[in-house]
Amino acid sequence: VMPPVKGDVVFKEITFGYKPEQTIFEKLSFHVKPGETIAIVGPTGAGKSTIINLISRFYDVNEGEILVDGIDIRDVTLKSLRDQIGVMLQDTFIFSGTIMENIRYGKLDATEEEIISAAKIVRAHEFIMQQKKGYQTVIKERGGTLSAGQRQLISFARTLLADPKVLILDEATSSIDTQTEILLQEGLDYLLKGRTAFIIAHRLSTIKNSTRIFYIADKVIQESGSHNEL
Ligand code: ATP
Ligand code: MG
Repeated sequence: VMPPVKGDVVFKEITFGYKPEQTIFEKLSFHVKPGETIAIVGPTGAGKSTIINLISRFYDVNEGEILVDGIDIRDVTLKSLRDQIGVMLQDTFIFSGTIMENIRYGKLDATEEEIISAAKIVRAHEFIMQQKKGYQTVIKERGGTLSAGQRQLISFARTLLADPKVLILDEATSSIDTQTEILLQEGLDYLLKGRTAFIIAHRLSTIKNSTRIFYIADKVIQESGSHNEL
């Protein structure tokens, strides 16, 4: 079982390919310290989403090791690993049920107060209260009437409640209006506090707010530095 972590993440000479003869990474190495926000950028097919697959151990590396707080992720149970690594994919997972249930998700012991408080912190509360039945509004699988931005706000609240120390976000590419973008940026700022985050970034605002940028291309990280340095 993985003990509670601070969120120190090391990739040590990682070589990986979905097919062994076709590598995506070759000796990819980096060290991310607790609390850092890393923006991952790079051409399509470069391996950005593959980073998510490797940290959450949907796939095992061919060579090298991935350490979280110095612990090889192969040495702990998948459940205990994934309890501390939150993944938010481009297409937010929504199931048929109330907004309350969708935020509670795996955290079955969360009280209504805790759920509402999480929603307030990530700036989701306001739009929820504008729905017919507030938190008791039933939403359909795939979000139904909710906009992409609203679905993201629900996933922010869900993730804050789950409280993982390492967060991975594949930012939505779908177009959202400026006002929603500002709201999402605000919510995200609060969500990221005290966590290590990897964001596959599509918005300039996210890149600007990151501590470092990883440009992935040609099987390794080409450049890393803050937005000001690049
Ligand atoms: P995009 O910007 O388009 O999302 P990406 O940088 O996230 O691209 P990845 O999804 O990590 O790229 O894919 C890297 C390479 O691995 C691509 O050539 C892709 O076709 C391949 N690939 C991705 N997922 C799988 C999989 N599950 N099985 C086999 N090959 C895969
Ligand atoms: Mg991708």
